[in-house]
Amino acid sequence: MTVLIAGAGITGLTLAISCQQAGIPFAIFEQVSEIKPLGVGINVQPHAIRELFEMGLEAELEATGVRTREVSYFSKKGGLIWSEPRGQFAGYKWPQYSVHRGTFQMMLLKALQDIAGADVVKTDRRAVNVVDTENGVRVTLRNRAGKESAIEGTVLIACDGIHSDIRAKFYPDEGAPHWGGSILWRGTARGKPFITEATMGMAGHEWQKFVTYPISKTDPETGEAEINWIAELKFPPDKKWNREDYNRKGNFDDFFPAFADWKFDWLDIPKLMQDGGYCYEFPMVDRDPVEQWTFGSTTLAGDAAHAMYPIGSNGASQGILDARVLVREFLKHGVGVAALQAYEAERRPATTRLVMANRGNGPDHVMNIVEERCEGAFDDISEVLSREELSETAAAYKKIAGMDVEGLNNRASIVELPEKDVA
Ligand SMILES: Cc1cc2nc3c(=O)[nH]c(=O)nc-3n(C[C@H](O)[C@H](O)[C@H](O)COP(=O)(O)OP(=O)(O)OC[C@H]3O[C@@H](n4cnc5c(N)ncnc54)[C@H](O)[C@@H]3O)c2cc1C
Repeated sequence: MTVLIAGAGITGLTLAISCQQAGIPFAIFEQVSEIKPLGVGINVQPHAIRELFEMGLEAELEATGVRTREVSYFSKKGGLIWSEPRGQFAGYKWPQYSVHRGTFQMMLLKALQDIAGADVVKTDRRAVNVVDTENGVRVTLRNRAGKESAIEGTVLIACDGIHSDIRAKFYPDEGAPHWGGSILWRGTARGKPFITEATMGMAGHEWQKFVTYPISKTDPETGEAEINWIAELKFPPDKKWNREDYNRKGNFDDFFPAFADWKFDWLDIPKLMQDGGYCYEFPMVDRDPVEQWTFGSTTLAGDAAHAMYPIGSNGASQGILDARVLVREFLKHGVGVAALQAYEAERRPATTRLVMANRGNGPDHVMNIVEERCEGAFDDISEVLSREELSETAAAYKKIAGMDVEGLNNRASIVELPEKDVA
């Protein structure tokens, strides 16, 4: 009755911890030979934080990230369009956290090792093929030297990210991810947090945008925190772009001039970018939603199932929800095909809606409306767009993402375990 998990990213690790806590045997393997804290900032939303708290990880999260207080949208001239509270400040019972992706992944890894042993994740094992057997699945694993081995289990959950080998097996003609025309340059820098100690700020519009938020608590001695930033430019579809690679170093000359005069009373954007002194380049890509995730005793989860634009900060959160729904269904149906199908019936339509909403700019749409109506220049925002329009756009996205306040606060837990089983 073993759950095989391909990939020890955020989805795979959440699934492994949840299986261990629920007493479900599992094996988890990862393609890299050593898991390192890679990436820059991400946000984890209250619906996913609820899951992590229920897994007993509240103290670890508190030590890892920042409770996001608010999100503020600005025009390209720096004028405030709209600000809304986040997490507990917005009435959720759970916070939103801004974290460094790599630190967050290492936190999950340590939590798993603490309850399942230091060598629980088998590294340097890339899942390259899967076949159904009489009792479940046989997965072929390949190491860096090209040596192959096999592992058998009851089901395979492919948590192997946007370049999933397992998804490619079932969709051999799918090819590269879909690019919508935007390129992101991401970095971090030490600096003084702006507005509050935990504000997420976004300025500009679809064609030129800047997003920034602190991902560490403010050091009481220096008054500084680690600040994440993302500069985004959108290009015509014929632009030559570099394939997505989370570790590709970016070149400041490619985007810095476009932001050189974005010096606002709430933040000097060029200075922040220069202070960090480094950046990564990443094209904004996602995957077209597919009609099927479950093939025999294998299913897809996380980015392997529904890679989405990083708009609305939902990528990691949705992977966490996938993992939890899978465990609920294993507990209900036993580990097998029925559980995979029940999981897919709930999660595939929900995440398909989100992938498509993010292509339409999700909650950031208000910034485009302001650009279209007044090119970002206004004295009084209520003359450009009404408060009702603003709050309706924000509320509509939250519903699609499964994070409307009342809905989340009042629903039952996804996974119900006796208290003592949660480490
Ligand atoms: C190195 C890295 C850096 C990232 N940085 C950022 C960032 O800065 N900002 C952001 O918004 N998102 C980033 N992401 C993506 C983000 O983590 C995901 O969108 C989200 O957290 C969903 O996670 P996931 O576990 O489904 O996928 P991922 O986080 O992509 O994890 C997939 C895991 O599977 C492993 N893997 C891949 N193929 C195989 C295989 N065939 N067999 C076994 N293991 C395999 C990968 O090495 C990885 O550890 C990054 C992802 C990676 C891998």
